[in-house]
Amino acid sequence: MPEMRKDPIVDRWVIIAPERAERPNAILRNRAEVDDEQGCPFCPGNERMTPPEVLSRRPPGSQPGGPGWTLRVVPNRYPALRTETVMSREGRGLFDLIAGVGAHEVIVETPEHRGTMADLPAEQIESVLRAWQERIVDLARDVRLKSIFAFKNQGVPAGATLSHAHSQLIALPVVPPGMQEELRGAKRHFGEKERCVFCDIVGQELRDKERLVHESERMVVLSPWAARTPFETWIVPREHRSSFESSSGQELHAAADALRALLRKIDVALEKPAFNLYLHTMPLRENNNDWYHWHLELKPMLQQHAGFEWASGCTINPTPPEEAAAFLRQTEV
Ligand SMILES: [Zn+2]
Ligand SMILES: [Zn+2]
Ligand SMILES: [Zn+2]
Repeated sequence: MPEMRKDPIVDRWVIIAPERAERPNAILRNRAEVDDEQGCPFCPGNERMTPPEVLSRRPPGSQPGGPGWTLRVVPNRYPALRTETVMSREGRGLFDLIAGVGAHEVIVETPEHRGTMADLPAEQIESVLRAWQERIVDLARDVRLKSIFAFKNQGVPAGATLSHAHSQLIALPVVPPGMQEELRGAKRHFGEKERCVFCDIVGQELRDKERLVHESERMVVLSPWAARTPFETWIVPREHRSSFESSSGQELHAAADALRALLRKIDVALEKPAFNLYLHTMPLRENNNDWYHWHLELKPMLQQHAGFEWASGCTINPTPPEEAAAFLRQTEV
């Protein structure tokens, strides 16, 4: 059974999730991405290879559990955390432990086996973002869950094990330190200036233009001032809103357009790199406030974390964000 362990020195939670009762070095064999169309658990006709769906988009008359869908959400077959786990907190000597309560779901973004999110029409990407939103709203009803992360790993270097386009959701019984830090920073900025730091960033980047990748009526795509990795890019809604769950249909539509534009630029500019994409939104059930502002962060996987990064928590980025933004701006798609 998965469990969450807290490091006794720093407030860092780790999910210990043994997948199968195999030898510990079995993980060496799981590295390659599986691209087997017949045996693909995400292809239409193979619905029985996944746990029963929790959400699907189907035309009238199409039966749950069968083919005909355009999008499907299913629990992960090898979940990092499980909703069925009974909540328990335990101290074991000086160590802290929480039972692995959580949720881990997979959003199958398209019935097509080939192609990536960048190849999907904007309406389908919007349908994916709407599925994230619907699942977040549903999972938020479980009061044991405190935070949620929607994310996408594309390509083996980014952690993908199946090539069929999909994203994932993990809900946690804690708010992890990386998120706490971002929330704390945003709250501090508001405390000092009575302004949202993300709204401030959007305003400044729209004026400076140097780190701007793309702008539309509702969304801004930018290379952040202190980009941690080459071509790290954020999508930030122009309108202030703390939680992704409360975004309107129009905003999701605009976010899908911006995401599609960014993915296509990244594909052309960096020759279809592996990447991680994730959503930052308020912890569950904490709705809108004046100081936090949801956004998407995308990190192409162009270099590995090396010794110094692990040692210091500080990254060395060889690509100034101004250069990355200029390059992406000029990339025609
Ligand atoms: Zn497939
Ligand atoms: Zn804001
Ligand atoms: Zn963030």
